[in-house]
Amino acid sequence: MTSKTNRDEKNFNQAALDYHRADPRGKIEVIPSKPHSSARDLSLAYSPGVAIPCLEIQKDPKTAYEYTGKGNLVAVISNGTAVLGLGDIGAEASKPVMEGKGLLFKIFADINVFDIEINEKDPDKFIEIVKGIAPTFGGINLEDIKAPEAFYIEQRLKEELDIPLMHDDQHGTAIISAAALINALELADKKIEEIKMVVNGAGAAAVACTKLYHALGVRKENVLMCDSKGVINHKRENLTPEKIDFVAHTDKNTLEDALKEADVFIGLSKGNVMTPEMLNSMAKNPIVFGLANPDPEIDYDLAIKTRKDVIMATGRSDFPNQVNNVLGFPYIFRGALDVQASTINEEMKLAAVHAIANLAKEAVPEAVILAYNLTSLTFGREYFIPKPFDNRLITRVSSAVAKAAIDSGVAGKPIENFEEYETQLLD
Ligand code: NAP
Ligand code: MG
Repeated sequence: MTSKTNRDEKNFNQAALDYHRADPRGKIEVIPSKPHSSARDLSLAYSPGVAIPCLEIQKDPKTAYEYTGKGNLVAVISNGTAVLGLGDIGAEASKPVMEGKGLLFKIFADINVFDIEINEKDPDKFIEIVKGIAPTFGGINLEDIKAPEAFYIEQRLKEELDIPLMHDDQHGTAIISAAALINALELADKKIEEIKMVVNGAGAAAVACTKLYHALGVRKENVLMCDSKGVINHKRENLTPEKIDFVAHTDKNTLEDALKEADVFIGLSKGNVMTPEMLNSMAKNPIVFGLANPDPEIDYDLAIKTRKDVIMATGRSDFPNQVNNVLGFPYIFRGALDVQASTINEEMKLAAVHAIANLAKEAVPEAVILAYNLTSLTFGREYFIPKPFDNRLITRVSSAVAKAAIDSGVAGKPIENFEEYETQLLD
């Protein structure tokens, strides 16, 4: 058994290398988007013709959206300090991940991506570099940057740039897990204002998720956050500013104490830290999101075996209810770019949360069920988050985000006709 598993893993690892090495190497390439076969085409594409749009943009920078690819180009930017679960592997080693994100942006939302790996760990210098290259792009997706630097970097860039920008490891996860939480609470028949929640982990993802859950109604006094040293309570010393925001006035010190009678467990820490005893100590219909990758805080099968009433999601594709950021970022940026939004604000994030949550409650088209080799998919404990290959995501999430941008006053170019817009999205 073990040797078969080892062999499977070896085969898979080799397949991953072969996939990346196959010609053309890597996962994305640049393709010209205009005719280029005649001398006249080239005189328009480059000198002398190219000078004319240059001068137009010099006169009015907004016309860059008309005459260049800026409006559909997102930078996926990392410094390689918190890559997947691999840690600080450096800028160059992070490139396959950033190219991968580019591939996902393209296939799910037809957004072009330049992946940019920056060899700079100093947050202030990193910010200056990103600001320097920002004119190229319609939007910026910060990726796999370590906390707490990631908080400062994102905050300053949001303040200083006027294009949509999001650190996906924080907000993408927050948005998808919040949509899952809304639906899981409906299944558990619990009210968001009343639930007792334990968040295990106090890093980039946990902090952003918890802030969004508060915005949705989870009360501050009902949340206990734990890090690697246990519950973040008033007895703890030397806490970072982000952790200070989550200090609880409680005598509970351990995850085990915290989980007694809790309604919801959100794991954004590391694998296998929750025991069956801890799960058994939670309230009725416990909601357990074991989101640590690659191994959840408690194994899916173990959790289901331990309690029949558990409502569970993980970060993995091989179990029901995968909290997968790809349900969000392509469409959030699609909607933001299409209205030339100056930012991605709370209203836009909340619109994405509700659009994703609502979609899981609708009847699932045959094509989606077939894409997953299933016979049925109906809203319930085994399906409360939409599947990544659900092609309704683009219309639902992008329009919701675009509308929220318009309504909150951050759209540079509002959409007049949403019906027409949604038809275009499907082309
Ligand atoms: P991060 O910034 O490095 O934070 C990790 C946090 O986990 C830290 O606060 C750390 O505590 C805490 N931690 C480590 N061991 C712990 C333990 N035994 N008990 C309690 N807390 C513990 O990482 P991140 O980006 O937030 O990601 C955290 C985890 O979530 C990773 O496994 C990641 O793969 C997963 N994740 C999943 C998704 C998804 O499913 N869509 C999205 C994002 C992240 P200290 O502060 O004391 O060091
Ligand atoms: Mg990431």
